[in-house]
Amino acid sequence: THGNLSIYDYLKKQVNRYGGKAFLYYEDQVISYSNMLERANQMAAWLKQQGINKGDVIAVMIKNQPFFYDVWFGCAAIGAIMLPINTASTPRELEYFLEHSESKGVFYDNDLINVNHKEVMKKLNLSYYRENNKELCNEISLYSKENHNDPVDSMDVCSICYTSGTTSKPKGVLITHENYLYAGHSSVLYQQLTSEDRYLIFLPLFHVNSQYYTSMAMLTVGGSIILLERFSANTFWDTVSKYNPTVSSFVATIIKILLRLPKHPYENQHNIRQIGYGLFVNKNDIEEFQERFDIKLFQWYGMTESITTNITTPLYEEMPVDPNTGILSIGKPGLGQEVKIIDENGDQCDFNQVGEIVIKSPSLMKGYYKNKLETDKTLKNGWLYTGDYGYMNEEGFIWFVDRNKDLIKRAGENISSVEIENQLYDHPDILHCAVIGEPDEIREEKVVAYIQTENDHLSENDIIEFCKERLSEFKIPEKIHFVEDFPRTSIGKIQKHLLRTK
Ligand code: ATP
Ligand code: MG
Repeated sequence: THGNLSIYDYLKKQVNRYGGKAFLYYEDQVISYSNMLERANQMAAWLKQQGINKGDVIAVMIKNQPFFYDVWFGCAAIGAIMLPINTASTPRELEYFLEHSESKGVFYDNDLINVNHKEVMKKLNLSYYRENNKELCNEISLYSKENHNDPVDSMDVCSICYTSGTTSKPKGVLITHENYLYAGHSSVLYQQLTSEDRYLIFLPLFHVNSQYYTSMAMLTVGGSIILLERFSANTFWDTVSKYNPTVSSFVATIIKILLRLPKHPYENQHNIRQIGYGLFVNKNDIEEFQERFDIKLFQWYGMTESITTNITTPLYEEMPVDPNTGILSIGKPGLGQEVKIIDENGDQCDFNQVGEIVIKSPSLMKGYYKNKLETDKTLKNGWLYTGDYGYMNEEGFIWFVDRNKDLIKRAGENISSVEIENQLYDHPDILHCAVIGEPDEIREEKVVAYIQTENDHLSENDIIEFCKERLSEFKIPEKIHFVEDFPRTSIGKIQKHLLRTK
């Protein structure tokens, strides 16, 4: 554990060691560790002035920008709880988040909301709702830069993060200061980071990956964050050339998008040595990316509920491929993480037998906020039931098979949608794809593939023929839908439940 430190105490500590050093680069701003602390102090003083106390929830619905860190550390200074809200939230979703969390106040970016969002905020009994603009920043900058010494315990809740809502209504995960500090330290170890590192962050800050895997890692080790409002393929390499990052964190889609760009003069002159990525990527894409850009890729597997990366590829180890499916392992349990694969009776599976991935870690969530039913289903005897299916080989390498909810149940057989997608991605004309089970009168479900392609001549039959060479009969999609685009979550996961209800 980290004594009794809050993340704000940790920032204070780092100011003593790294004071003048850049904590954050954003556009043309450079915010040093000392500046960051002063900004947090002013935010904390402003919040106190609004009547915000320890334990109160403060919501933020803003794009990636330094202000997010002001709120995060400012709340932490006085023991208030930050609630980051997905920037794509509809008025109804916003209402759900604010009401469910009993938020006291909310900061928002004006261009993210409409009149109905405003109505929601007006209707609720909030101490304030403020547009994040120049006027607000000027107002806050008049407050004292003095440190705060409020009693905040490492086990106090620091934020409430709602899950991505890939499979159902988002659930609020309570994250303590201790959780963040633990995640930051393990993240530094897994990625072998140093204070020389410059972390490129463009995934949304309201998603936990940007909080515990990347931002906390830089705070822990005294490195610098390069923050982008969002990922842009057109400006990616120019941005890299301007800020010179050494590491980054990606999701699958970004890897594919960068591979499709024409050659850029800077793509072989950068200093990015490695990138952690989450979600499934086909082995050929991984190899092509590593070769073309000379960047080492490695996996992180984790979830909001586990508040750290639980399974990861050891950085300089060759990752095994399952000879039957051609799919890369997601790695081994991280330091201090216990991972078991269990069958439906709760017994441990044999090697290579598929079952549910369950995790024991020093840093699991305490539960979902005000949702005992789901908490009891997810946390049992100190184990986190992930709802993900996988298997482990004799050497302890783990493979991700599918989410429970995405496994296709066809005539008594469980089929991994990921395995079929993996084969489809070997087709040069398939840009993105998603395989789901659709109700079938005879076999319970049938395999259906959604395909995004830029080749107008690609036909349903071409794809089925392609699959016939690679997949056993019962796994071949019976129907192909061509789509222009996919519904995705904030970090780019395809929302299969929306395809199913189409
Ligand atoms: P919800 O729980 O609301 O449906 P979500 O599960 O997508 O949303 P997150 O906590 O952001 O919300 O995502 C965690 C999930 O993402 C994991 O349970 C797993 O299904 C998937 N995932 C994470 N890492 C990987 C990975 N390396 N490979 C494949 N899938 C992954
Ligand atoms: Mg989940």
